Amino acid sequence: MKITVQIVIDAQDGTPPATEQVAAIARDDLTMATAGLALAEAHEVLSGIQHHLVTAQAAAAAVAGRHCGSCGRARARKDTRHIVLRTLPHHHAPDRAAPDDPVPAAPARRRRR
Ligand SMILES: [Zn+2]
Repeated sequence: MKITVQIVIDAQDGTPPATEQVAAIARDDLTMATAGLALAEAHEVLSGIQHHLVTAQAAAAAVAGRHCGSCGRARARKDTRHIVLRTLPHHHAPDRAAPDDPVPAAPARRRRR
């Protein structure tokens, strides 16, 4: 059996709804291990929905903010492309936590005599 998970995004702006594939799951015989979704498959489904939903939301927000609210003129568009978001690197040593670090610092190692 093959299960394809799709979402339909309808912008309700007169354009036809877009169907996006989120995940494809294959199953053979029913066993305790194959019943339902595995954790990795659930992550794939959630990640796929998030990807398509955020893409659609960002596109709608870009269209909504395209024109000036006061004069109605189209705003200049600087660039349109995909970017990768990254978190800041962890600069301090693991046993010297920063004051605002939510994870308590590991105890200092004792030296052998
Ligand atoms: Zn304006």
